[in-house]
Amino acid sequence: MRKISIFYVLALIFEYLNFSDNIGVAQAYSARNKFLRTEEANRFYNPSNRDLTFFNPSNRNLPAYISINSVPAYHDRTDNKQPWDYTGTKGLAPSDWKYGYPACGDSSQSPIDIPIDNWPFESYAPPLSFNNISPQLPSSLKKEEHNINLVFSGDSAPSVSGGYFNETYEMVQLHFHWGSDNTRGSEHRVNGFEYPGEAHLVHYNKKYGNFDTAKSQADGLLVLGFFLQLNAYSTIGMMKIGAGLRTMADQGSSSVNLGSLSFVDILGYLPNESRYVFYQGSLTTPGCTENVKWHVFPEPIKVVQRDLSAFRDFTSFTDNNRPVQPLNGREVMVNGINSVSVNAGFKSLAQAKH
Ligand SMILES: [Zn+2]
Repeated sequence: MRKISIFYVLALIFEYLNFSDNIGVAQAYSARNKFLRTEEANRFYNPSNRDLTFFNPSNRNLPAYISINSVPAYHDRTDNKQPWDYTGTKGLAPSDWKYGYPACGDSSQSPIDIPIDNWPFESYAPPLSFNNISPQLPSSLKKEEHNINLVFSGDSAPSVSGGYFNETYEMVQLHFHWGSDNTRGSEHRVNGFEYPGEAHLVHYNKKYGNFDTAKSQADGLLVLGFFLQLNAYSTIGMMKIGAGLRTMADQGSSSVNLGSLSFVDILGYLPNESRYVFYQGSLTTPGCTENVKWHVFPEPIKVVQRDLSAFRDFTSFTDNNRPVQPLNGREVMVNGINSVSVNAGFKSLAQAKH
């Protein structure tokens, strides 16, 4: 036990040195993961000591920060209000966002091209736990400045916990990114493949009480990402959303009531709690704050052409997908355990599948 304590203290000092240096969150995590991967650390794993669970050799690719409460140095730089868009016609173009919103030029940005070889790996991370995703809740679409948000009302918002984190994140809104044709639109890519759209279910850390407080915290946000895939029919939820978008376009209205809807209605299936890609990234719109726990799921949401086309009626938003950002050494956790190097030679699963 004495040796274990010494190494634990060393690990804490190591962590302090990293986090006190104001270096980016990702680099700190990456540096610590490298340390944790050393055989020296693994030798001192003791399952009876909860504080040392991150020394578990079988868990060595898990980010150790999940069990540690200290929050790394973090600077909220979201107070700039410069106009921005996706083309540079009415504001800063994506490549220039950083001039108005410095975080957009930082090193742990989203979206990314997910460098994945295959999806068959067993997850060693605890499964995610989804709550209130099946009950139908009153829902509506609301046109915002840069997108159209779907919001649920009612007492019990969907939430998620488990996986790579210990806290509960509550859903605040869902929105989509889409392209002007079927070859483009998603923000994340898989081995370079771009889907025609992507749904983002934005969650905030419930301990902060509300989204506005949470969005400026280092552990404030979590987004679940689901690709849209063209299909012969839409899920019930996408059907309602497509109809709602057509109503909004026809009436020129800025909001529409969708009636009762659940998270699962939109997905068309129960999300797999162990099958996803995890990485630490940012909001994909200015201010690009690097405080988002990204979970991207391989199982797409099915949508028929007519409903997908309904998004494109909103021409001012169309092609609202930010280009992919460099990984800069970040680790992408594939289904929990597999860290795939961006340089690894991989097959194009997405191309094979679609
Ligand atoms: Zn988004």
